[in-house]
Amino acid sequence: MNSRTELQKIIPVDDFISQYPVCQYMVLDAAEIPFSEKVRHICRTECGRYGKSWSCPPGVGEVEECRQKCLQYEKALVFTTLAEVNDASVLSETLATRAGHEEITRSLVGELKARGATCLPLSGESCQICEQCAYPQPCRHPGYAIPCIESYGILVTEIAEKCGIDFLYDMHTVTWFGLIFFSGKNRC
Ligand code: SF4
Repeated sequence: MNSRTELQKIIPVDDFISQYPVCQYMVLDAAEIPFSEKVRHICRTECGRYGKSWSCPPGVGEVEECRQKCLQYEKALVFTTLAEVNDASVLSETLATRAGHEEITRSLVGELKARGATCLPLSGESCQICEQCAYPQPCRHPGYAIPCIESYGILVTEIAEKCGIDFLYDMHTVTWFGLIFFSGKNRC
């Protein structure tokens, strides 16, 4: 795991991240992110979005393809945002807070890019920009849609434990995870 000092040499995340409602964050080497076919099995057998979105399998490609795509980047910014709901066990309530998290994710990508980074963002859920995903017809917003973290074969809870990031609060709090792979030295 990298210290914040090392991070500063790469890109000054500390300079801008405090301006956003990010709860916790950590930067890892991209190579430290674990990928697993087991996660893909969960997508296939337990998720209703499987085969229905470009942000989910099999649309995102094989786990190994996803891994290779991520490993083109040096670092991975892992972060959480929190949203308040009446009951976090009600999926519709939880999903209604997703857009706010993705707005923050896109802003963080913008900050990194403004500092010369190239980025690959992933988010905590299947893309819901369109009322109905165009899959298997071409994505309507390629380059804007953010794939789901798990769709890449990455288990969020494993990363959270690795980074000491909390993911369970109370029944009124939704924890959204974001993961931004990035490369680039500080140009400042
Ligand atoms: S932008 Fe639309 S078409 Fe593209 S992945 Fe998201 S929901 Fe599907």
